[in-house]
This record gives sequence, C-alpha cells and structure tokens, in this order.
Amino acid sequence: MKPTVGIIGAGLGGLSAAIYLANAGFNVKIFEKNDKFGGKLSYIHQDGYYFDIGPTLLTMPFVVEHLFETVGEKFNEYLDIIKIEPACRNFFSDGTYLDTSSDLSIMKSELNKIYPSAATDYENFLHYSKKLYDNTADIFLFEPFQEIRYLLKKRSIPIQRVFHLDAFRTINETNRSFFQDDRLVQLFNRFATYNGSSPYLAPATLNVIPYVEYGLGAYYIKGGMYKLVEALQNLAMKLGVEINLNCEIKEILIEKKVAKGISYSGKKEYFDYIICNSDVVQTFNSLINGFEKEKEKLNKLEPSLSGMLFLWGVKGKTDLLKHHNVFFSDDYFKEFKQIFDEQKAPDDPTIYISISSKSNPEHSPSNSENWYVLLNMPYLNPSQNWDFEVKKMRLTILNKLKKFGLDIENKIEFERVLAPKEFYDLYRSNKGSIYGISSNSRMTAFKRPANRNRSIKNLYFATGSAHPGGGIPLAILSGKHCSDLIQFYSK
Ligand SMILES: Cc1cc2nc3c(=O)[nH]c(=O)nc-3n(C[C@H](O)[C@H](O)[C@H](O)COP(=O)(O)OP(=O)(O)OC[C@H]3O[C@@H](n4cnc5c(N)ncnc54)[C@H](O)[C@@H]3O)c2cc1C
Repeated sequence: MKPTVGIIGAGLGGLSAAIYLANAGFNVKIFEKNDKFGGKLSYIHQDGYYFDIGPTLLTMPFVVEHLFETVGEKFNEYLDIIKIEPACRNFFSDGTYLDTSSDLSIMKSELNKIYPSAATDYENFLHYSKKLYDNTADIFLFEPFQEIRYLLKKRSIPIQRVFHLDAFRTINETNRSFFQDDRLVQLFNRFATYNGSSPYLAPATLNVIPYVEYGLGAYYIKGGMYKLVEALQNLAMKLGVEINLNCEIKEILIEKKVAKGISYSGKKEYFDYIICNSDVVQTFNSLINGFEKEKEKLNKLEPSLSGMLFLWGVKGKTDLLKHHNVFFSDDYFKEFKQIFDEQKAPDDPTIYISISSKSNPEHSPSNSENWYVLLNMPYLNPSQNWDFEVKKMRLTILNKLKKFGLDIENKIEFERVLAPKEFYDLYRSNKGSIYGISSNSRMTAFKRPANRNRSIKNLYFATGSAHPGGGIPLAILSGKHCSDLIQFYSK
C-alpha cells in the first residue's frame, strides 16, 4: 500500500510538497481552511479590477521550473513569465527618482546620473552579491542544511563556503561601504524587506537578494501572479492529490511523540506523515497539545514584518508611474526603529505601488489602473489600533503622492484594505507576519525551524516560516525539502 501524507494548508509549500510526494508514489491529501488554493499568493477580482493581494514579483523561476520538470511537465506550457522594464521606479524624499533594471548597461547609465563612479560601485556590489549567493545558496537554500545525516549520504556539504557570509556586518553597514550616496544605500537596504527584516539589524548575508533580483532576474507572471497557483493546482490534481477546501484542521493527533493524524469538523483522519504548510509557531500554539518547551523556544523567534495593503481602482492613467514603484521614506532608520523596536506604524512609511495593469491591461477597466499599495508594518501586538492606523496611513499616502504631483484622492473608485489583522485571519500567519520569521539577527538562519521536526516523529514543515524562509521560491523549496526528507527517512 502507498504511504499516506496529510498536508495542512494549500499554500505554495503545501502544494509543492504534495506534487513532489505524489509524483514519488505517495498518497497525498491536502486540507485547506480557505475556499481557494495558494495561501498568501492570492488575488481578488471585483468591479472589473484584478488585484494580486500577495506577491507581485517572482524571483528564481528555475525553482518552479524544477518542480514542473520533475513531474515531466513543461513550465512554459503553463506559465508565461515576463520581465518588467524598468524593474522599478524609485522615488526619493528629495523629489528625485531612479529607474532600476536587471539589464546591466541600462542600470549603469541610470546610476551614473547619481554620481560619477556609481556604476562602478554597483558593479563591485553586484559581484560581491553574486559571491554571497554562490557561497550560500547550495547549503542555505537548496538543501535542508540542519540534516547532517541526509547531507552526508548525499555527499553535499559545501561547508567550507559558509565562512564567507559577511554575517558580522549589517546590511546597512555593508551597503554604506559600497555606495557614496544615501539614496543608493537606501535603495539596496530595501532588499532586507524581501524577507521581512530590518536592514539595520539583519546580517549582510542577505545582500544575496540584490543578485537574485538583478543578476538572476525578477519576473511578473502574464495574466497575474495567481496563474502560478492555478498551474500548481493543475499539477497536483493530475497527480491524484486529493484536496479539501474550507476545511480547517483543529488538532494534530500525536501519540507517544509520533504524529498520527489530524482532526477537523469532529472527524479524525490518520496518515503515515503529516506536513504542516501552516505557520510553524501558530501550528504549535494552536494545533498541538503539550510540547511546552518547544512552544516557548518558537515563541521567542521574532516574526517578520507585517504589511498594510491598499487596493485602489484608480480612474485615469498615471504616466509618471511604472509597473513597480517605490516612494522611500525620508528617514529609513526611524521607519524600521518604529516598526521593530517601538512596534508601531511608521510616521513616514516607504510606499510600494505595483500597477499590474501597466503590463496586463485586462487587470483594470479601460482608462483606469489597479493600484496595489503596500506599506511595511509591525507584526501584531495588543496595543495597536488598526482601524485608526488604516485611516491615518491612507491620508499619509495620499499626501505624500501629492508632493510628487499625483493627486488621486478623488479618482479612487474601488477600495479594499488588508491590515496585519487580516493577514492573520486569512492565513493564520504568526502575528500577521508575511514572511514567517524575521532575519534580524546573525543567528536567524540557524534558528529557523527545520523542515523535519525533531520532537515529534513524522511531523514536517513545508512553509515560508520554516527553512529556508519566506518568499515564493523558498516556500516551494521547503516543500521539496520535506519530500526529499520523507523519502530519505522512509527507506
Ligand atoms: C502582501 C504580501 C506581499 C508579498 N510579496 C512577495 C513577493 O513579491 N515575492 C515573493 O516571492 N514573496 C512575496 N510574499 C511572500 C510569499 O507570499 C510567501 O512567502 C509565500 O506565499 C508563503 O507560502 P507558504 O508555503 O508559507 O504558505 P502560506 O501562504 O502561508 O499558506 C499557508 C496556508 O495554510 C492554511 N492554513 C493555516 N492554518 C490552517 C489550518 N489549521 N487548517 C487548514 N489550513 C490552514 C492557510 O489558510 C494558508 O492557505 C508576499 C506576501 C505577502 C502577504
């Protein structure tokens, strides 16, 4: 009889684990509390507007490609990925803006407008960023690095490389050593938010991310990011994965420290393996009885940033804006201090605006645009009043845009807002965090929960809150790691 796997959650990690394992001959069932697949990779479609409500950028598409190839399917028959040019229009508080590009010659000529040697500084930075990627990716991303026995068997421990991680400086410290203009430091500091962290706390090891975006390329998916979920859903169903939507798991059944099954709607179901795509901390806090020491340890890990997302259907076209735009705050250090240290919404938030209708006209009615406006926010704590903050932030955004000649207040004909509480309610992410655990300390990579739980046998985690971390490609890799480990330990 085929071994059975029950997966809690149909987010990217859950779908990826399901596809890899079903392809390897396991009998897989997914239980998802929401009425659709994809978890944080989601969308809404209303009044003629399509909005992504999660990721707007796909990096490392080869991770998705690998998934398709493993099951004998062609990635490009399912998905059309497009490069957006410019990659992003970045507005600074002094009123200037800079377009970035993954095309080196375009990027260099843009940077040279900032100061004469900026292009050379950037080339040196990109070279350094690539080196970091080469030194870290194999061990910290593409392998479940906490699994020594598994790695030894695979003879795949490029351990000598982990001594070149730039882990003793912060992102900001390193970026200051490369660039002579505060705007460029701020621009490259922002990559810390790609995994929900502060550039003033996170180790410079995370400077791999600029290479991932500019060296390897960042993409949008033609038709909308949700096409990725639809493609994965198709693969899972083709492979015979059984999917139960609107089905919230209430408990993981554990006997003598072995995960045996799950319970939902008064029913119990038993499996050989349980994989949680649900957030690790939240899973321990709400679905597992006992294991207090593990809970205490997990609850000490700092969650990543949360967000506040305004979805605006805006009448008319704004030529000044591109598909991806960032309006930087005046004082980036203060912004992160307020978010992480003071746990409050920043006075002057950096504003990210994605308008996918610029490259997908069908995403909005004619002569209008779909604005996805995202602010970094602190994860939930009981003292915050989000109704008040949403009103305040709405005004702050509109006033800031006016300073750049963009007066859209009376042009907004559709509006929906997601604050940290909604991110918690929708996805049960720990305290509304959007990337799992923050990387605000040198040791985070080592403290991030492993894909195979050590306290409870046969319990695995395929989620952005476990190794190797948040973001589309990493969540998909977490599913692959679970599949590889289950196959390894079941032999
Ligand atoms: C606003 C926003 C912007 C982002 N931008 C980007 C970006 O541009 N690029 C990028 O790469 N990444 C981005 N991310 C991050 C990326 O979306 C996530 O890292 C990734 O989607 C997480 O996948 P996951 O596998 O952890 O599952 P999740 O998306 O966390 O899904 C977990 C699933 O489990 C379900 N679940 C939880 N508890 C239960 C239960 N008890 N019973 C049943 N089901 C349960 C949830 O409903 C959910 O569907 C963004 C995220 C957000 C929110």
